[in-house]
Amino acid sequence: MRTAQQDAAPPTWRLLLAYVRPHRWALLIGAVLSLLTGATGLLLPLVARELIDDLSHDRTITGALLLMSGLVVANASVGALGSYVLRRTAESVVLGARRALSSYLLRLRIAAVDRTEPGDLMARITSDTTLLREVTTDSLVGLGTGGLTLLATVAMMGFVDPVLLGVTLAVILAAGTILGVIVPRINKASRQAQDAVGVMGASLERILGALRTVKASGAEHREEIRLHEAAEDSWRQSVRAAKWTAAAGNTAGLAMQIAFITVLAVGGARVATGAVDVGTLVAFLLYVFYLMSPIQQVVGAITQYQTGSAALARIQEALRLPAEPAAEPAPLPSPGAEPAALAFTDVRFRYAEDLPYVHHGVTFEVPARGMTAFVGPSGAGKTTVFSLIERFYDPESGAITLDGRSVEDWELSLLRSAIGYVEQDAPVLSGSLRDNLLLGSPEADDDALTRVVKTTRLDGLVARLPKGLDTLVGHRGTKLSGGERQRVAIARALLRRPRLLLLDEATSQLDAVNEAALRDTVADVARTTTVLVVAHRLSTVTMADRIVVMDAGRVRAVGTHRELVGADPLYAELAATQFLATAE
Ligand code: ADP
Ligand code: MG
Repeated sequence: MRTAQQDAAPPTWRLLLAYVRPHRWALLIGAVLSLLTGATGLLLPLVARELIDDLSHDRTITGALLLMSGLVVANASVGALGSYVLRRTAESVVLGARRALSSYLLRLRIAAVDRTEPGDLMARITSDTTLLREVTTDSLVGLGTGGLTLLATVAMMGFVDPVLLGVTLAVILAAGTILGVIVPRINKASRQAQDAVGVMGASLERILGALRTVKASGAEHREEIRLHEAAEDSWRQSVRAAKWTAAAGNTAGLAMQIAFITVLAVGGARVATGAVDVGTLVAFLLYVFYLMSPIQQVVGAITQYQTGSAALARIQEALRLPAEPAAEPAPLPSPGAEPAALAFTDVRFRYAEDLPYVHHGVTFEVPARGMTAFVGPSGAGKTTVFSLIERFYDPESGAITLDGRSVEDWELSLLRSAIGYVEQDAPVLSGSLRDNLLLGSPEADDDALTRVVKTTRLDGLVARLPKGLDTLVGHRGTKLSGGERQRVAIARALLRRPRLLLLDEATSQLDAVNEAALRDTVADVARTTTVLVVAHRLSTVTMADRIVVMDAGRVRAVGTHRELVGADPLYAELAATQFLATAE
């Protein structure tokens, strides 16, 4: 059992440090350059004091002027270089975070994805990571260089006049107390603003994923309102964050003005009594002026970190979703590899702890080679059988074995490489027809491709298309018909030469001629491969070597068509009514 302690998220700065660590040297160089910029600037008041001194003693000022110009030029060039190095490093930090998140999201368990909004996850990769840029430059470096410059300036001030330093520090302390109240509010508002961006991403994804349905339902206006609400919510929270950030910045600014006036008054009095000379007062006032920038930098670093830490927390949440172990891609089965044998033993499964059981002890056995058909009413748990074989989910109890070995003991990539799976909706990805066919077997040669295109009767389509296999199929294959999409999905699975082929209503949208042809192809494949089909056509089902009848998460009966028609009333009814009749 994990304790609550272990479950608590580690502080966000640890995650930031993990992303920054690979770039620590570049960051250090950038920070040193920034510090040098500050240091050259810091020498200017001393040269100014020299210059005033020279003037008041009627000495030539050429030396002091030359020194000053040199310092100014050095300040600008070192500053530019430092700023470039820092920004570049910050972009690398963003890149690192995006890479880590992308890899992680591809490994997410399906059960974890079920509980999240893809659009929100997308926002975490794209928008939240962007905020790390400012966190790296402004917060980390700002705090480091600003803090050091601040200390150095304060030291110089103490060196020039300790009394005036005491006056300055008192004012700064008062401002710091006020800032302590403001800063947490920035964090809260920023988090809410980023969450609202996530909600907007989810909303967008939902609409773009079903734009035809949205339009056909005349729901554009209502969806528009939802989108606008999310956008406005983000705006509202960002404005709140901006308000507190502005307040923080100006509190610091105001404190410096007050410090300036106070130093002018107290310093003036000290000049009058002869405790210090005018040059010292001018130098000190310049230092107060120079204090402005590092103080703004430190306050900026703290406020910026509040925004960044909200984004970091969102990234961290994504990285704590359950994922599959990272693995190298496994090789596909070699030609002539033995077909797989499969068994379910008393499998109990539910999609989540607060949902009812979908499998109440499912048991069946499928020997290597041949075709097994799964039939039963919709919702019986047929698709779930396939999901469990692929280990998209794991059962709560019972065993699923492939070749006599529990699927949980298989290396996941090896398990999946043995299986060809055609999902119920035959998904086709945007890209070309060729990309889609080669998705699961990028190394397949042209011969294999041509052959599988022929056996799945896609050759007619390919010949008709202007660019043949290189024709783009559109988002989710919208440029193909339902039957074409199904044949593409079947071809894709066949190209992998799987040892176990799972077809989930894979031919439901085919016309009678294509369906009959594909049926022959599948029957052919079943001679050398283990084939599992969820089917609704009597013609497919009767051809199967065995039929597993499922109902409400249980296996009711297993047998051939002839055996089951007489023995199982549900099967007899399905055969009589629900199966789609085909021209035989
Ligand atoms: P079949 O393929 O036999 O029609 P399924 O295996 O798809 O049935 O679904 C069985 C039950 O599980 C259904 O009641 C369905 O609502 C539920 N179900 C399917 N997928 C999920 C999921 N990802 N999360 C929660 N419930 C699900
Ligand atoms: Mg199904």
